[in-house]
Amino acid sequence: MAYRGRFAPSPTGPLHAGSLVAALASWLDAKAQGGTWLVRIEDVDTPRCIPGADQTILQQLAACGLISDEPVIWQSQRSALYQSALDHLIEGGQVYPCACSRKDIEAALSAQGVQTERHQAAVYPGTCRPGRGGLQGRPARAWRFAVPSPSEVIWQDQQLGEQRQHVADEVGDFVLKRADGLWAYQLAVVVDDAAQGITHVVRGQDLADNTPRQILLQQALALPTPAYRHTPLVLGHNGEKLSKQNQATPLDTTQPLQSLNQAARLLNLPKCTGTVSAALTRWVQAWRRALQAHEGSVQG
Ligand code: GLU
Repeated sequence: MAYRGRFAPSPTGPLHAGSLVAALASWLDAKAQGGTWLVRIEDVDTPRCIPGADQTILQQLAACGLISDEPVIWQSQRSALYQSALDHLIEGGQVYPCACSRKDIEAALSAQGVQTERHQAAVYPGTCRPGRGGLQGRPARAWRFAVPSPSEVIWQDQQLGEQRQHVADEVGDFVLKRADGLWAYQLAVVVDDAAQGITHVVRGQDLADNTPRQILLQQALALPTPAYRHTPLVLGHNGEKLSKQNQATPLDTTQPLQSLNQAARLLNLPKCTGTVSAALTRWVQAWRRALQAHEGSVQG
């Protein structure tokens, strides 16, 4: 099947050094395999989106020579597709309406003696699962995916090797449509990866633990599962990953080669001088050689 990859930034701020690593890796992986590379703007979480950040991101990518091979799409314009996926899951009884607020969830968990740390997402206790009487006439707020049991998902990550997660125990029934009516990332990403025929997902390692949820959703919607590769994260001075939330410095695109070289170093690629396009060509060759060497070592 022809390779189709993508870079899918959320326009919650400009690109930073960390997001460039994922962008460059996904572009190189596609180009090294003769593939098509797409950019998709993931602007479903509208309260977190910053007006104009999408255009800034596209300009930053272009300055780095990373240009979508097909027209860019915006998730905010694709609600009908997400709704039809949700309808399909409703028909199949794979989702259920949930009336719980965050407080309800905390109260249910503490009644079960489960302590949740502030920084930890709570594992949903299943209060509103059909048959448990949770709704009790309360108005439904969100739609949750009923994680099938047994729920251990095992996948082979092209960078991290074999990965596994017990979704029911570690995540619980997750939200597909939020109480505020917005689509959750998990549903939108799965629907769009399939709609765009994505065969390879290359993205930052911070997203690795979302993969099992996405694989379960693909299975529920009878969609193919792409290959996954999760790239290393850039850490800030405080040792935390760079993110738009902790105000990582926007990428300096007046010096694109310098920014690209920084990203390349994390991907074990050689430092390049000269033009951006010459550097990209060299890195494509190096990436292809690394893929071939890896294949050789797996087969040999
Ligand atoms: N939109 C997500 C983000 O910017 C990335 C989604 C993905 O690559 O799957 O964190």
